[in-house]
Amino acid sequence: MCDTRKNGWERKVRKVIPYTPGEQPNRPGMIKLNTNENPYPPSMAVKKALESFPFDQLRLYPDPAVGSLTNALADYYGLKKENVFVGVGSDDVLATAFLTFFNGEKPILFPDITYSFYDVWAKLYRIPYEQKPLDENFSIVKEDYLQENGGIIFPNPNAPTGVLQPVGFIEDIIKANQDVVVIIDEAYIDFGGESCLPLIEKYDNLLVVQTFSKSRSMAGLRIGFAMGNEKLISYLNDVKYSINSYTMNQPSIVLGVESIKDDSYFKETIQKVIRTRERSKKKLKELGFSFPDSYSNFIFATHASYPAKELFEELKQKDIYVRYFNKERISNYLRISIGTDEEMDRLFEALKDIMEQ
Ligand SMILES: *Cc1c(COP(=O)(O)O)cnc(C)c1O
Repeated sequence: MCDTRKNGWERKVRKVIPYTPGEQPNRPGMIKLNTNENPYPPSMAVKKALESFPFDQLRLYPDPAVGSLTNALADYYGLKKENVFVGVGSDDVLATAFLTFFNGEKPILFPDITYSFYDVWAKLYRIPYEQKPLDENFSIVKEDYLQENGGIIFPNPNAPTGVLQPVGFIEDIIKANQDVVVIIDEAYIDFGGESCLPLIEKYDNLLVVQTFSKSRSMAGLRIGFAMGNEKLISYLNDVKYSINSYTMNQPSIVLGVESIKDDSYFKETIQKVIRTRERSKKKLKELGFSFPDSYSNFIFATHASYPAKELFEELKQKDIYVRYFNKERISNYLRISIGTDEEMDRLFEALKDIMEQ
């Protein structure tokens, strides 16, 4: 109706309601627990490489095949470089995978509560989709994914719930869907879950997607990657090279390789986040919160007596940012990213203050 008031050209625009990322306020002293960033810096090896990056080299285009980082990832995960695709954050990798693999008449399937970018890409690319409700414990219902479909995607652990499914459960879904591509978004798998990466040997229709943004503390550099059968990876590359050959900038490629090389720092940092997460689970329970058990770097918590939206607003007043989704089924939950022990202590103090008012 209102379209008729628009200009000729405006009616032809590919209209889309974009994904809303978490706020990125940046004030001294604030506590930012709203976008699942790592509270610790990247490895010092990354810092060194950043400081000695050859300035003059910026005149040149980067390697379109992202060779050095692709090789480093392939070595790290025991794969061939033909099994690895690198993109500008996993959002870029996932968007390219949607465009490449979800191209049929039948709906692709993903959960009703999940990463809220999936339905945005589906709409943008005109991919039919169906959202399958999680059960009352926020678990994926396997049977929902055993019907005919045009492809499957979900995160494991799921976001924003933190709920992990075992590899055997996921294998049952892949096994039953070998004529479509199944994408497992493992953005949080490094925080204690078991990856389904080994299954790519067995299933040529499985794409596993991971990112440097959370476990490797490098959200600002935008590095994501996919691993799978070489045929899947080569189809992804065909689409990538049909849009933009030089997706990865030179510093990100160099710094990504340095991060992979410093494995002891990577593992140490993850252990620190996991320890703080387990401690935070206890504290939140003491404060009267409940939550599905989390295998990620966030906790998805609800309180029986204090509405999530009010807690969210009051925490913001105290310069503590968590994530609130004003969405059916989850509008009484807060997604709290795991910060340092000190940051979490300030959060618990603030929650106590608010509840004692
Ligand atoms: C954070 C996140 C991503 C995207 O991360 P990038 O920064 O683009 O690598 C993808 N999927 C899920 C489920 C996420 O939480």
